[in-house]
Amino acid sequence: MDFETWGPQRWANHFNQMLNLAKPPDRYRFDIGDLAMETSRSLFPGDPITKVGEEELDACAGALVPADSRTRWGIVYGTGQSPGRRRFTTAHEFGHYLLHRKKYPNGIHSSEAGVDGRTKLLVEKEANEFASWLLMPLDDFRKQIAPKDRPDFEVLGQCADRYEVSLVAAVLRWLRYTERRALIVVSVDGFIKWSWSSKAALVSGAFIRTSRGPVALPPASAVGQEQFTPEVRAGTQHPGGVWFREPAREFSFRSGRYDTCYTLLHLGDEEPRWSDDEEQVEDTYDRFLKNS
Ligand SMILES: [Zn+2]
Repeated sequence: MDFETWGPQRWANHFNQMLNLAKPPDRYRFDIGDLAMETSRSLFPGDPITKVGEEELDACAGALVPADSRTRWGIVYGTGQSPGRRRFTTAHEFGHYLLHRKKYPNGIHSSEAGVDGRTKLLVEKEANEFASWLLMPLDDFRKQIAPKDRPDFEVLGQCADRYEVSLVAAVLRWLRYTERRALIVVSVDGFIKWSWSSKAALVSGAFIRTSRGPVALPPASAVGQEQFTPEVRAGTQHPGGVWFREPAREFSFRSGRYDTCYTLLHLGDEEPRWSDDEEQVEDTYDRFLKNS
């Protein structure tokens, strides 16, 4: 078979079909390191993955490293990662092995944002896509959360458990297929580190830009006021003007482990087409009529 032409989804589907047929007892929590080593040995005996392990890595989450004149490869994940993150990092590096090792014979180092697929680098997006599709197959994920559902952290956390990935990985997977307008906001010490919007939210302008540096949390938001109660975690409704000009439902909690705050925002079905300002509505409408 001409594996060179296979893309991330084709590779992920290949392994998913294999796993569906083999029916291992814990279908969605299979050992990704074993899968990488066993399948690379049978598919690519000339340069298989022979080692998957933890190492102290400087400022990166994982790496694909060659050994012995590139006749063997190793997958490395950084120390201190939770089992879910470790699993996702390993799948991401396995993606680099399948898709990119010919182009990058000296190996690849992946940042945290690279593993999550948040960077614009094509190779990182592809490896993330492979990992997401392999660990969280779309057909099964959509059975847990339908594209029109509005899940809270409870439901998303159940998916993270089901697929043994981090909560963030499960949220990003859901945000990439949901039809709802929603976004995740990750903050530390009152500042937004990064945010990711669903496509429907993005095209309607509901996104938070952090590429130019950290952004302060909205002062009237629950997370901005450090209200980490069970009620806030389960969802609190805000009027327009708190997060965006429109109302938003906020779900927030703080993770003790990293001192990081996670916020999920659900917005209405459609962006308000006109502003509240009557005059401006008329102006816009008049202009529309004149131009049409
Ligand atoms: Zn990477």
